[in-house]
Amino acid sequence: LKTGNPFKKLNDEIFVYVARKQKEIDELKKMEQFRREFLADVSHELKTPIFAAQGFIHTLIDGAVDDEYVRDKFLAKAARSLDGLDALVQDLVALSQLETGELRMHFDRVDIRHITDEIFEQLESVAQARKTTFRLKTPLTGPVWVRADKQRITQVMTNLIQNAVKYGNDGGKVVVTLEDEGKKHLLVTVKDDGPGIPPEHLSRIFERFYRVEKSRSKEQGGTGLGLAIVKHILNAHKSKITVLSRLDKGTEFRFKLDKE
Ligand code: ADP
Repeated sequence: LKTGNPFKKLNDEIFVYVARKQKEIDELKKMEQFRREFLADVSHELKTPIFAAQGFIHTLIDGAVDDEYVRDKFLAKAARSLDGLDALVQDLVALSQLETGELRMHFDRVDIRHITDEIFEQLESVAQARKTTFRLKTPLTGPVWVRADKQRITQVMTNLIQNAVKYGNDGGKVVVTLEDEGKKHLLVTVKDDGPGIPPEHLSRIFERFYRVEKSRSKEQGGTGLGLAIVKHILNAHKSKITVLSRLDKGTEFRFKLDKE
């Protein structure tokens, strides 16, 4: 025996169908919007170093080349703009591969203490130029094994340590700590004693191309993509990065990794 109104059932089914389609349309619209904004951001970011390099080179062609001092200065500036362009393109490729999930992770047993020491060594001249000192603090002895993609986790640590130097004060201290958090996890922190990040910017620094001080970041050769890349890589490690910052005291980034 059939009960109820057959039209009501049909009506409900149509309603559910329309709601589902509407959701799909909304998602497509959002993706399209994201794509459009991304393209606009990228073109803008690419234009800046290209225009700068063009400007220097054309000024040289127009006669500045005859003055040895000006020539050397402009050539160096043009080279710097092109280096910035190169860094930007590399970061863009990495970010787009991470965002589309194209970049396969290769998980391995890696010694994060060794990685940190190597980065400190690599960044020594950058740190020296700013009289920054590096320190690794850990109660753990010997290698500190974690399960991670070695190349990608090196990139995460490099970006964070480099930022700590770039945005820290001259004569500042950068401290990396490695400590156990429970049985399964290792807590990594990267801390500086720089000027800190104003609270209103904190939630946005992981967005692509977001910079607190645009000129400072550009001056330091920043692409504005470093922290977006960090976030994606850690995401692929099922980890989340958090930041604590106090004005005039410093900034601390922290995340967990699986111990191995
Ligand atoms: P950038 O290429 O500009 O360095 P990032 O994505 O690495 O881009 O960082 C985004 C912004 O966050 C930087 O432009 C800077 O303003 C801010 N920032 C990052 N790390 C620090 C830090 N340790 N101290 C202060 N500000 C920082």
